Amino acid sequence: MELEPVIGLEVHAQLLTSSKIFCACSTAFGASPNHHTCPICLGMPGVLPVLNRRVVEYALRMAIATNCVINRKNYFARKNYFYPDLPKGYQISQYASPLAEHGYVEIETEGGKKKIGITRIHMEEDAGKLIHDETNPMSYVDFNRTGVPLIEIVSEPDIRSAEEAVQYLRTLRDILVYLEICDGNMEEGSFRCDANISLRPRGQKEFGTRTELKNMNSFRHVQRALEYEIKRQMFIIESGGEVVQETRLWDESQGVTYAMRGKEEAHDYRYFPDPDLVAVFIDENWIAQVRSTLPELPGAKKQRFMEEYGLSTYDAGVLTSDRFLAEYFEKCAQKCQQPKSAANWIMGDLLKLVNEDKRTIKECPVTPEHLAEIINLISEGTISGKIGKEILEEAYSTGEAPRAIVEKKGLVQITDERFIAEVIERVIAHHPEQVAQYRAGKEKVFGFFVGQVMKETQGKANPKLVNDLLREKLKN
Ligand code: ADP
Ligand code: MG
Ligand code: ZN
Repeated sequence: MELEPVIGLEVHAQLLTSSKIFCACSTAFGASPNHHTCPICLGMPGVLPVLNRRVVEYALRMAIATNCVINRKNYFARKNYFYPDLPKGYQISQYASPLAEHGYVEIETEGGKKKIGITRIHMEEDAGKLIHDETNPMSYVDFNRTGVPLIEIVSEPDIRSAEEAVQYLRTLRDILVYLEICDGNMEEGSFRCDANISLRPRGQKEFGTRTELKNMNSFRHVQRALEYEIKRQMFIIESGGEVVQETRLWDESQGVTYAMRGKEEAHDYRYFPDPDLVAVFIDENWIAQVRSTLPELPGAKKQRFMEEYGLSTYDAGVLTSDRFLAEYFEKCAQKCQQPKSAANWIMGDLLKLVNEDKRTIKECPVTPEHLAEIINLISEGTISGKIGKEILEEAYSTGEAPRAIVEKKGLVQITDERFIAEVIERVIAHHPEQVAQYRAGKEKVFGFFVGQVMKETQGKANPKLVNDLLREKLKN
């Protein structure tokens, strides 16, 4: 009996609004504990929450980008539970009428493109943060995060492997970052994921009993936790046991999941509509207006880069993995005779410089226009590729224009045949031994001569001319 994994993910994305969802407190990360709080987000009696319009707008962006049906009338609901990081004793969320439903995203799998259904997207507030003292039996609570806006994105159980789960998460994160509504940082918790997983005999329609996995802070954790859980459930089923429905925590250092709470301890949240908040109506105009501001999404951009610039799937994938990298490429490619070489230069030498410098492409001192200038100087034969790299480094550290650097340093490529021929003759005269070897059939020595000529000309000789002339001179 072959067992097939069935996986559905619940993703929480922190929205990049500058104030909280129901009060004017700042959402900035890293402030001293409890400095970004007020009577509303601290849940004092008698206060009234007021919805931040921008939260709805951001959530709408994601709903539209993931092909959802948007509910015109939205309610907020109270999700009741007791925990020290939740000062009101309930979280304001959405329940019966979420913002959006019935959407999907397309992911890439080994077997081609695949649609993963999105069950719902709703808006809610984040809880505070508990800090447990390592040395004393003491816990502290920081309410800065209380009331920071989140969207929860719940997938259909359409995912069939750990790889697909990670691919789906990457796709969601790329979209959120492109939309500029979430920074997508998993380590800092602004993009979080719980994974529900069960197994069933391949071909069976009904789902098996699932477990819910929590505490995964990176794509790698998600992948490892799911792989572990698939093996664990497989072992139970194959040895005749039954999987218990429960919530399990991933322990990265041990590489295992362990039970946190069972079904019996599952919460009854006693959801009910929040009487402090009015219903939110989302009309056609609002939807149309948000739709008109959406940028081209990563999937569509990748496809277009392949068609318009003749890039490979891989290159297009790398260049669209970041919106600003894609913009950089496109600006550069439009000024180049060969877009493909723009891709090569960006993915190779330029990203190397940027990464070594621990910067992002947004902070790159070489403009796309300047990079295009270097590429064009090479393709029109003014400089060699090797000199091009040197100029890039120079432009990176000084911000100067490539043409100015070429002129200042006298780096123009030598294409004067007579001059190159003279250098070649000199090199040949100085290395009679190697000449004899070459003529005796040792082809490899040819590279030595090219190297010598390049050294004599500080790398400025046109490589094709050097090659042609060398072959000719060495023959005679
Ligand atoms: P809850 O509210 O208890 O978290 P939901 O029914 O809303 O449960 O489901 C949460 C997630 O679990 C969804 O992403 C859904 O696709 C997934 N899911 C539901 N049933 C299964 C199952 N049998 N196996 C794997 N995933 C499942
Ligand atoms: Mg759940
Ligand atoms: Zn507040």
